[in-house]
Amino acid sequence: MSRSKLHAVIGGGGLAGSLLALVLAKRGYRVTVLEKRSDLRGKDAPGGRSINLALSERGMYALGNVGLAEKALKQTIPMRGRLIHNTDGSTNFLPYSRHPHEFIRSVSRPGLNRLLLEEASNHPNIKLFFECSVVEVDQQEKTIVVQDAQGTLSKRSFDLLFGADGAGSAIRKSLGLESADVFSSEMLEHSYKELEMPSLENGDFAMSPEALHIWPRGTYMLIALPNLNRSFTCTLFLPNDGAPGFNQLTDADTLRAFFNDQFADAVRLLPSLEHDFFSNPTGSLGTIRCSSWTTSGHSLLLGDAAHAIVPFFGQGMNCAFEDVSVLSEMMDQTQEIDWPSLMGAFESSRIPNTNAIADMALENYIEMRDLVADEGFRLRRRVALELENRFPKQFKPRYSLVSFERVPYKVVQETGRNQSEILLTLCQDVTDFEHVDWTLAEQLVSRLPSLDGEAH
Ligand code: FAD
Repeated sequence: MSRSKLHAVIGGGGLAGSLLALVLAKRGYRVTVLEKRSDLRGKDAPGGRSINLALSERGMYALGNVGLAEKALKQTIPMRGRLIHNTDGSTNFLPYSRHPHEFIRSVSRPGLNRLLLEEASNHPNIKLFFECSVVEVDQQEKTIVVQDAQGTLSKRSFDLLFGADGAGSAIRKSLGLESADVFSSEMLEHSYKELEMPSLENGDFAMSPEALHIWPRGTYMLIALPNLNRSFTCTLFLPNDGAPGFNQLTDADTLRAFFNDQFADAVRLLPSLEHDFFSNPTGSLGTIRCSSWTTSGHSLLLGDAAHAIVPFFGQGMNCAFEDVSVLSEMMDQTQEIDWPSLMGAFESSRIPNTNAIADMALENYIEMRDLVADEGFRLRRRVALELENRFPKQFKPRYSLVSFERVPYKVVQETGRNQSEILLTLCQDVTDFEHVDWTLAEQLVSRLPSLDGEAH
């Protein structure tokens, strides 16, 4: 069948689903998007569900591919580094890069989703349906059962089905991709809670907007990202059970005492702390890995449905967007697309990369909550930036490769391990930057493979 006649159904009109709809529609497919929630266009965001996100190069590239880079950019605030808030109230700024054009951006999740849905609703090949959940898939018949807001069930047919229905994917389950041999879900023993830091009475940001703020406290942390309305969304990441843990923060007095003790400079800027803490949901965090994303050659999972990761590298959405740009590039490389082989090739090329970012995201939790406050870590970070300065072809720090480049995550992971060994060697008997042995550095770095030509 010619591609203009093929009917693609996308379950989930979130970030990945709405972007994918645009990619398919622009290539002539008839696209139906079924979204469980109500239409968020023209609505305020519900509180407590990761309101803002860090958008980096992989995400920007994917938005650029559908002509939305400029519109998306207008919704973002540059964050040029981490601003560390120590317990004594002092702060340190750790830049993300030595290049002024390399930074990450804070973006509103509902704002970005709205932009994608608006663009999709203007495309003649796309039909959007809200308050419609995919509840079942029949792979033989190529039909799905959809439930509307009134609970009425109806059947729809598809030529291609894409499961972009997030970490709790009903499509994944119905396709039989949750059996123990292909699926694993590891919940973190930490959860998160969002808290609002409004703008000051004079309308200014309460803290510098040019940074991702972190209060690292060893086994837990508070972070804050700026919003366009000059507020910040703060997120507390804390063990479920522990001292401290969510299990202990059960009344307003204990909560306030904990914040006064640990986050004194933030607490005075959080006027609705108790309200937010006790009324916003506590979000769980986990890693989902599937070793199979496709069945029968006409159904494919992508985004969080295929690979949910913990948020500590700020990559879940960026990685979901990259799924779409990789799929789109693979489609462009073929004149007559054979979907079963394309879906198989997509899965095989992508899974090693999504597993790699899943691992790196888990490692980054330790870096954010613990290491950024550590002198040794700060020294290694400074040395890493200097190595990049001296040997730009061989050395680009792992954070930069993830956030400012499109080098496959698997390559970044391997490169990062080699770099980490070099940094540990160079810093092992050194307490300050001035005593680093740059001759040894040159020898060690010269053994690294060149990073040129590694982009997707
Ligand atoms: P989702 O955004 O979950 O979208 C899935 C959609 O499917 C939803 O709209 C849902 O309503 C719909 N749906 C669900 N079930 C059905 C069904 N049965 N039928 C139809 N529709 C259905 N990523 C970053 O890149 N940077 C960050 O800074 C970042 N920070 C984060 C902070 C937190 C606290 C969390 C939890 C996540 C963060 N992420 C971040 C990850 C990011 O939110 C996800 O990776 C991203 O939302 C994945 O997009 P998606 O479209 O695959 O899934």
